[in-house]
Amino acid sequence: MELRTVMLMMATGSFIYGILLMLFKFNNNNLLKVPFWIVAKILQGTGSLMLYFRTSTFDGLTMLANIILVLGCAYEAWTIRILSGQLVKRRQHILTSVGVIAVCSVTVFLDRPYRTGLVFLIQSVFYFLPSLFLFKKSKMKLSKQLLLAVCYCITGSVFLISSIICLGFPEFALGLGGSAIFGVIPIVSFCIFLISGFILLMLAKERSDMQILEIQKALKKSEIRFQQIVETAIEGILIFDENYRITFANKNMASVLGYTVDEMIGRSYISFFPKNHLDVYYHQESLRKKGEGSVYECCLLTKDGRKHWFLVSAKAIVDDFGKFEGSFAMLTDINERKEMELSLEESNRWLTELSNKDFLTGIANRRRFHATLEHEYSRLRRSNSKLSIILLDIDFFKEYNDYYGHVAGDECLRQVGGVLGNCINRSVDLVARYGGEEFACILPDTDIHDAVKIAERMRQGIQDLKIEHKKSLVSEFVTASFGVTTVQYSPEISLEEIISTADKLLYKAKVSGRNRIEY
Ligand code: GH3
Ligand code: MG
Ligand code: MG
Repeated sequence: MELRTVMLMMATGSFIYGILLMLFKFNNNNLLKVPFWIVAKILQGTGSLMLYFRTSTFDGLTMLANIILVLGCAYEAWTIRILSGQLVKRRQHILTSVGVIAVCSVTVFLDRPYRTGLVFLIQSVFYFLPSLFLFKKSKMKLSKQLLLAVCYCITGSVFLISSIICLGFPEFALGLGGSAIFGVIPIVSFCIFLISGFILLMLAKERSDMQILEIQKALKKSEIRFQQIVETAIEGILIFDENYRITFANKNMASVLGYTVDEMIGRSYISFFPKNHLDVYYHQESLRKKGEGSVYECCLLTKDGRKHWFLVSAKAIVDDFGKFEGSFAMLTDINERKEMELSLEESNRWLTELSNKDFLTGIANRRRFHATLEHEYSRLRRSNSKLSIILLDIDFFKEYNDYYGHVAGDECLRQVGGVLGNCINRSVDLVARYGGEEFACILPDTDIHDAVKIAERMRQGIQDLKIEHKKSLVSEFVTASFGVTTVQYSPEISLEEIISTADKLLYKAKVSGRNRIEY
């Protein structure tokens, strides 16, 4: 076969091989360091093509072709080093490339057999190197690696012998001319191209299969470790999909809620929320969909319908493009603490209510009256509005008690308290039992005119109860007397003075005949 034809075949073969590797690379990302390999084949293809087109004289094109071809051989050596599990440092391969370019450039200044000899010598180095890498591999099986190593060794030897002939016996080499050596070299190159290409592909496949296997093994191991952590965790663990359906629950989580793990899987998170806690669910769902994590307290329903409290630490799971894919939640059981907190809150609320309420009538007591008066009076300072106070006292109540007894007296007080409560209808107004058979009323933002109207309504309301009072000197029923006063804020007027004014007016109502209002 003609030499130039071999070069053309090598060029075409290398390009096809390089293109196939490129396609392979884009279809299968896990093949290690394919770029080195692609570069090797493209360089070899280009070099061979240039040699195919070269003229018989040694010109720049031949030198360039040699550089490219030898660089291709170097890249192939690196590919094999990587495939046999060793590293190629960046500096290492850059230095080699620079060296190749430098040495090949020198050949311009040499005469024919020497320059050919030098190029062959470098090439032989890059054929011996792969066999060295392959032999060095400790776990080498006597199979493809060995075969490949031997092939590279033979090729390296052919190039070495050729270079020795050219460098050592230039006369002899010139005598051989274009025949023997220059015929053997391309054929050997073509053979190594075919054999190495085929075996390398098989090696790469073997290696990537091995790596996949190793990755799978490591994955399985970490999965088992993860499973152990999850199962031994005191915390409950839940994983949700993008529709907030449970895709994973650990045993602990399921058992706290009274379910089995299988019963939990596929259920929606919302189904665990009591109806009056759904706002918590919706708020958290919206946070998660924005990719935000949070820590929150929530109460979930157990299988038998009881409420159970958890402290939840939740994280959103998003894909590479930030799209919401679900979420992960770690739940700490805080039921005992929360129940204690809630009962404490409840008893505190109850105690506050108790301390502000009159036990007999159920309306506010004197303590609450004073607190409210203080608050409203300080508010008055800013609003510049008016505040009215009504003080009332049941007429001849001592006589009532003496005649009808204390139990009847208490019942009378309860009824009067009830009527007073009905006479006010704004939430800011307050009716309180001031003490004994005295009651007081705070009417914020109310002038004297309206306050008297309300007092009159109260007076009439008490009378309309028609509670018999045989010992009253003013009516056959229980009645009351009223003192009504209205104030605007002034630093000179104290709360005591306001009450004292109302009290004086009440006394005036008593002395001027009772069952009446003084203001
Ligand atoms: P006046 O018309 O001047 O107000 O005469 P009064 O008898 O109503 O006034 P006084 O202050 O002399 O008597 C108040 C009575 O109210 C004394 C007490 O027997 C009675 N009283 C005070 N607190 C209670 C209570 O909680 N229950 C009962 N049943 N009676 C009470
Ligand atoms: Mg009294
Ligand atoms: Mg009285």
